[in-house]
Amino acid sequence: MTPSTSPQAATDQHQSDAVAVNDASTRELYAKRQQIYPKRAKGKFRLIKWVFMAFALAAYYLLPFIRWDRGPDASNQAVLVDFAHQRFYFFFIELWPQELYFVTGLLIIAALALFLATALFGRVWCGYACPQTVWTDLFIAVERFFEGDRNKRMMRDKAPWSFDKAWRKISKHIVWIFIAMATGGAWILYFHDAFDVVHNFFTGQAALTSYIFFAMLTFTTYTLAGTMREQVCTYMCPWPRIQAAMTDREALNVTYRVDRGEPRGPHKKGESWDDRGDCIDCKQCVAVCPMGIDIRNGSQLECIHCALCIDACDDIMDKVGRPRGLITYETDDNVDRFQRGEKPRYRFIRSRTVFYASVLTVICAIMAYGLMTRTTLELNASRDRNPNYVRLSDGSVRNGYTLKVINKSARYVNLDIHVEGDPAIEMRIIGHEGEGLSLPVEPDRTRNFKVFLALPPEAIDGPSESFTFVVSDPETGETATTRSVLLTGAPR
Ligand code: SF4
Ligand code: SF4
Repeated sequence: MTPSTSPQAATDQHQSDAVAVNDASTRELYAKRQQIYPKRAKGKFRLIKWVFMAFALAAYYLLPFIRWDRGPDASNQAVLVDFAHQRFYFFFIELWPQELYFVTGLLIIAALALFLATALFGRVWCGYACPQTVWTDLFIAVERFFEGDRNKRMMRDKAPWSFDKAWRKISKHIVWIFIAMATGGAWILYFHDAFDVVHNFFTGQAALTSYIFFAMLTFTTYTLAGTMREQVCTYMCPWPRIQAAMTDREALNVTYRVDRGEPRGPHKKGESWDDRGDCIDCKQCVAVCPMGIDIRNGSQLECIHCALCIDACDDIMDKVGRPRGLITYETDDNVDRFQRGEKPRYRFIRSRTVFYASVLTVICAIMAYGLMTRTTLELNASRDRNPNYVRLSDGSVRNGYTLKVINKSARYVNLDIHVEGDPAIEMRIIGHEGEGLSLPVEPDRTRNFKVFLALPPEAIDGPSESFTFVVSDPETGETATTRSVLLTGAPR
């Protein structure tokens, strides 16, 4: 095709090339990549996607700047993965390293929610919420801004280099790089105080890892959303393969109503619609498709269920005066029913959706219970082993322990401590002898205390004594315990 070819001819040529390349019957093992020029779609699904994209991007870029008061000794960043202090903050939730099972729970909840959504609505995640979709949409919008819609882009790419072509492409790549840098930059804000990171980053004082991750995320965003696009979904992402196991014939998918559309063919104004389908073979559904496929070929691995072909086809149906919904969210089961002249049937309550919803509910309940009953005190004891015990001049036996006390609250606490076991056991807290049996711990801190326990000779009646350390917060009454033993060296 020469640069002087008309836009419509270029469109037709490209559409037929794209369809041929993506047709399963002609696909080769190592097919050459066919450049896709998605046309701008207008309609309710496109609007939903714009709204979702705006929400997702705003959340990603702005969340690190939201503050959350946790008291003077804890970070006030609402969402923060604080490796330096071993904390994960998410608004009112503050997790310590030993509570990482909550993160595991969150990941399981996210996975089950994805399974449930897939069983109900097909690849709704891919079409609306996947970062690859969101950023690719954004990059395509930038491309469209500088290079025009589908036909203009196709014509320009086939035309020889000119000043006009050069400045448009250079501008596009500059904006892409800027977005990619903002994306990489926002990522590192989640790991240190965002305002500090911004200052340190631009004054060259940020940690080397910040610059490395910034560069990595910038590169991957630019590459995946700018240049690789549909290749990521088709070849790199495992989800299209996995999701087939999550769904069934009763899931709502973006579907071409073959019962309504066929036999397809061009239609002139005023011609009868009898003995033919509603599809006028305009290929607008293909033109808007970011994956370059033809939904009329049936369910395809490449289809991300973005629903843009629904908008395109509804627009055409409006123009030719036929009912909307030739391409629509529909179940495979119902398409068969339509072909048999039966009424559709929608069953959202099915064994797999009930299973996913039940497990999801149980895990959410466990997580909620765990968070609501989460204690702010933790206690661990490790007994000295070298030596196991010391025999004192009065005949008593002494063991040494290191107590690790964790105060997860935002208050300074002065904890009472005692031992439950043999009442003859005497306790001494090293370094705090004049303060009675109390353990002062700063807010949101872990402190270690050295403790000696001694058992007088008349109380020794075996090789060891089991007991429990008990610490309690006199203000709240909250307690934490840990079991241990005192070795006496006496024979069995
Ligand atoms: S947009 Fe609708 S009418 Fe046009 S080719 Fe696609 S399915 Fe047929
Ligand atoms: S076929 Fe339709 S739903 Fe599937 S990716 Fe293309 S435009 Fe999106």
